[in-house]
Parts: sequence; C-alpha cells; structure tokens
Amino acid sequence: MKIAWSGRSGWRGTRYVAVTAAIVFAGLAIVGALAAGYALAGFVIVVAAAALAMRASEESGRRPRPVIVPERAGDPLNALVAGLPDPVIALDGQGRVLAFNEPARTLAPALRQGEPFSLALRMPELIETIARAYARGKEQRVEYSVRVPIDRRFEAVVMPVKRQPSLSAPDLMLMTFHDLTPLRRVEEMRADFVANASHELRTPLAALSGFIETLQGSARDDAKARERFLAIMQEQARRMARLIDDLLSLSRIELNAHRRPDTPLDLVPIVRQVTDGLQTLARDRGVIVQVETASALTVPGDRDELVRVFENLVENALKYGAAGKRVDISLREVQSADGESEAQVGVRDYGPGIAPEHLPRLTERFYRVDVRESRAQGGTGLGLALVKHILNRHCGRLSIESAPGAGATFIVHLPTAGPRSTK
Ligand code: ADP
Repeated sequence: MKIAWSGRSGWRGTRYVAVTAAIVFAGLAIVGALAAGYALAGFVIVVAAAALAMRASEESGRRPRPVIVPERAGDPLNALVAGLPDPVIALDGQGRVLAFNEPARTLAPALRQGEPFSLALRMPELIETIARAYARGKEQRVEYSVRVPIDRRFEAVVMPVKRQPSLSAPDLMLMTFHDLTPLRRVEEMRADFVANASHELRTPLAALSGFIETLQGSARDDAKARERFLAIMQEQARRMARLIDDLLSLSRIELNAHRRPDTPLDLVPIVRQVTDGLQTLARDRGVIVQVETASALTVPGDRDELVRVFENLVENALKYGAAGKRVDISLREVQSADGESEAQVGVRDYGPGIAPEHLPRLTERFYRVDVRESRAQGGTGLGLALVKHILNRHCGRLSIESAPGAGATFIVHLPTAGPRSTK
C-alpha cells in the first residue's frame, strides 16, 4: 500500500498545528502564565518546526519505493491469471515472476513469486524467446520438448504488454503454454495409418502389375501358366477389395462414433446368422462350432455393425484357432460390477493362443501377431480395430483372455439398457 503526502495535505497539517499553537500560547499569555513576547516566540518556533517536519515527510513520500510483488488474492493480475484454464505466467520487465496460476505450477513446480523465471524453467529457447519478445515489443512463439517424466511437446506464446501507453518498454510479459502432445500423437497416428494403408495396397498392386507384365511377355502363349496367374491375380484383387472395404467401414464408423445406436436387437439370431454363414469355412478347416445360447438377449444396437463384430471374431477363431478343431460361442446376461446389466458373447477357440505381450495391441490398426500368417489367411489387420470401434459406439467393449498353447477367448460386452434420455 502506498502512503504519500501531497503538497495540499502537507499545508493542511501545518495549518492545524498553527491554529492549535495560537490558541494554546494566546491562552497562556491571557492567563499570565507566559509573557506576551515569550508566547509569540513559542508560537513561531512550534509552527516552523511543524512546517519543517511536514516538508521532510513529503520528500520521503516522493522517494522511489522498492517493487512490491502483489501477493494478495484480491490483486487484479493474480485474479485474472488464476481464472485462465491454460498455464499462464506473468513476468515483469526484468523476467521476475509476478503471478502464475495452478496449471503453470503443475508445469513448473519451482515457480516462486518475485524470483527470476529462469530459475523455475531452465529452457534456453524459452529464455531467448522472452528476451526477443521484450526487445521487439511483439508476440513471440516457441515450441519445446520436455523429456521428463514423460515425453511432451509444448508451445509457449510470450506477449509483451505496456500497462501504460507512456512507457518506453513493456512492463509485463504474459506467457501462455499449450500442450501439443495429443495433437502431435494424432498427427503421428494419421501418418502411420496412411503409410500402413498404402503399403498394404501397394503389395497386391505390385503383384498384379507383375503378373500382367508376365502375361504380356513370356507367358503370353502358355495356357497353363495363364490359368495359374489369373487365379493369383483374382486373389490379390480380392485382397485389395477387402482392404478398401475395411478402410471405408472404419471411417464410416468413426464418423458416427458419437451417435449410439438404439434399435432393440436380439443377439441370438444375429450370432446364429453369422455361424450359419461361416459353415463352409468351418467345414474347410475341420472345425466344429457350438453355440450355447440364452432364449433371447436384447441390446440396443446397429444390426449390420453387430453382424460385422461377430463375423470378425468367429472368422478369426476359425482361421487362427483351427488347430483346436473346436469353437465355442456362449451368450449370457450378467450384472457388471456397477450393478448394470450387460450382455456377454464369448468366442472361444482351442488353437495356439496369443502371447501376453500382443494382447494390448491386437485392436490397433494393422497390428498382427504374424503378418505372413494373417496375409495367408486373407487378413487385412483391420478386423479387431473395426470390432473395437463398433463396440465403442455401442458403449460396449472387447476383452481378450489367452495364453500360449491354451487357445483364446474374445468376449464382447454390451449394455442391455438403451441410451439414457437427455431430456
Ligand atoms: P487380421 O485381418 O490379420 O485377421 P485382426 O485385426 O482380425 O486382423 O486380428 C489381428 C491379429 O490378431 C491377427 O493377425 C492374429 O495375429 C491375431 N488373432 C486374432 N484372433 C486370433 C485368435 N483367435 N487366435 C490367435 N490369434 C488371433
């Protein structure tokens, strides 16, 4: 708090002393306690002393005061900074911390009011940017990475502010920080996805153009080779079609991800339809499929998407678990831990099973335990990613239990209650 004496208030103080001294000394002279000459001399001395004291006090009020960093919650700068959702740090012209909010404290726990900013965030690129913003008087941005405790990328924006237009240099530097890590991760995932998708398409395409060249050249008049190559070409073309189909399905499901399907559907006939459709594949692989069902198991859902889920799971069990010669499908209704009722459909095979390190990654796009085997089985690497996205849209989930040599169980969990009304 600033306490100052203005010229007017100094004079007013001297006047009060003069009036009081005049009354006191006049009274003393009147009652004869003091001779008139002494009374007058006393009055002049007291008034002169008072005037000198006031002047000295006024001068000390004009002396430059030390900078006081506001610490009270009621301070407008603190209140403003505290109310912002992103990390914000306010510095003075010398780079000392004036104010910062909770998100900034999380970012730099060593921040202290009144201390140089560089003690809390020892990033040369940040310190340079602050100096540049101060020198140029213009907003400056910089991106930097933090490696500990986890790899993260930030953008810092430094905005120099003059709190009074008459100032020759900024007296406030406002720094805001944006966490770019999630954005960068999405960008990396998108780039990986495009690279994977083009690689997956390029392989059959290269095979196709290779065979076309052979058929135009050396195998032109070889009827037997032509027959064989055309069969391979047809398979490669089918593979490309499957991949494009899966890619389109994925993007369609992602587009509708926020809209939960609400048509009541009985899962029993859906699972029956899927197993009937895969009878030929089961016979070819020598696998017996057994379905153990409840009388009806109704969930809110999208029929085509749920057919796709069970097709993928049963087909995988037939393809990768064929060695076990048996696939069991079970449908039941259970109460989940939070008291909600859910439908569970388990697809169990008795094949080679899956090593634990692969389990968390199986639903990633293009992730396969064995790429060669997946391709040989006509796989695209997108089946389980599709399953995961469809179940997410249905507010459900997929759990996988497996151990090498012990087969695999893929369990679909779906809530039986419809979407809650938001009205
Ligand atoms: P793909 O098109 O390759 O079948 P998926 O996303 O459906 O792609 O499956 C991903 C990978 O998970 C498969 O390549 C396979 O390695 C593994 N997998 C899926 N189901 C099973 C299963 N029942 N038994 C063993 N491995 C499986």
